Amino acid sequence: MENLDRLAIHTMTTKPWDLPTACAKYAAAGVPGVGVWRQWLEGRPLAESKSILDDHGLKAVSTVRGGFFPYLNEAGRRDSHEDNIRALDEAAAIGAPQVVLVCGAKPDLCLSDNRKQITEGVAGLIDHASSVGVKLAIEPLHPMYADCRSAINTIGQCNEMIDQLGEEWVGIAADVYHIWWDPQLEREIKRAGRRLIGFHICDWVTPTNDFLNDRGLMGEGCIDIHGIRQLVEATGFDGPIEVEIFSDRHWAFDQDQYLEKIINAYRKHV
Ligand code: ZN
Repeated sequence: MENLDRLAIHTMTTKPWDLPTACAKYAAAGVPGVGVWRQWLEGRPLAESKSILDDHGLKAVSTVRGGFFPYLNEAGRRDSHEDNIRALDEAAAIGAPQVVLVCGAKPDLCLSDNRKQITEGVAGLIDHASSVGVKLAIEPLHPMYADCRSAINTIGQCNEMIDQLGEEWVGIAADVYHIWWDPQLEREIKRAGRRLIGFHICDWVTPTNDFLNDRGLMGEGCIDIHGIRQLVEATGFDGPIEVEIFSDRHWAFDQDQYLEKIINAYRKHV
């Protein structure tokens, strides 16, 4: 039976709970890690959010999310850069070792321009990442989002980008939801090696009724989560395993019972 030492839950997974509630519930359930979505940091000083985590003995494993690099004009480029600098500062303030990057895409731009702007955008953050000691974790997104959420869709593309950018401050967050279908997955995870710094889990349900908010709990769908975990861990990855589920269906459910289900599903299917 899998113990909970490596389990982390993204605050978005239990969306109805604010940060103090989520922290209290996770800690009481024996969950040691939290993926902190930035919306959960709004409305209070960062030091106070850090205290809430600390008081419950919780560790922020990631801040979610930065990215959204592509732009249509100079103001757009600057806004994106400044927001990503803030994301890095927020992560540093709450002790999170990485910011997850959802790289973005503009449907008005061609894919190659989107990807060029993304590479330049990430490159422009490396100095700041280094100065605050927070890594940039590029999360490739399922290609159904290539129009407006991310033009980076495979671990292979992340590897290409990191070949250019260097791997000291830039890594990869592998989310099973986005990568499970990829025929090159095994090869590219091996190639990524130590670049893999994040591992996110959930499941793909059939039919998927909503492209964004109909993810499954582990075991509800068709993803070989255990198999992907083995590939990821063969690289030497031994970091947190982050449960990240957006689900209108599960958010409508009693969240205390849902947390129990998450922990049971983690023990059984991961
Ligand atoms: Zn993810």
